[in-house]
Amino acid sequence: MSKDTYYKTCDKCGANLDPCETCDCEIPPAAVVIRELLFVAIDITPGDAPCVSVMERNGDVTNIINVIYGDEAIDLYHKLITKQEKEPDKC
Ligand SMILES: [Zn+2]
Repeated sequence: MSKDTYYKTCDKCGANLDPCETCDCEIPPAAVVIRELLFVAIDITPGDAPCVSVMERNGDVTNIINVIYGDEAIDLYHKLITKQEKEPDKC
């Protein structure tokens, strides 16, 4: 990265990047999936096993990816609804 420019250039593909940005060419294909939009359904009903379902939409079809039960479901629910005190690190 040149000292007199804000942007840096990817050594592999030449893309212009923000100073902390990782170039897409360096991200393994599986890691790109985290940009996917997921839906979460939560059922915490007294007397029933707590349940969190994670789903994705594919056109008109909703696919259940994972179902988490019990204390793990309650922990996940609280993590999802608790606003973080500070912004996550940008880099
Ligand atoms: Zn690149």
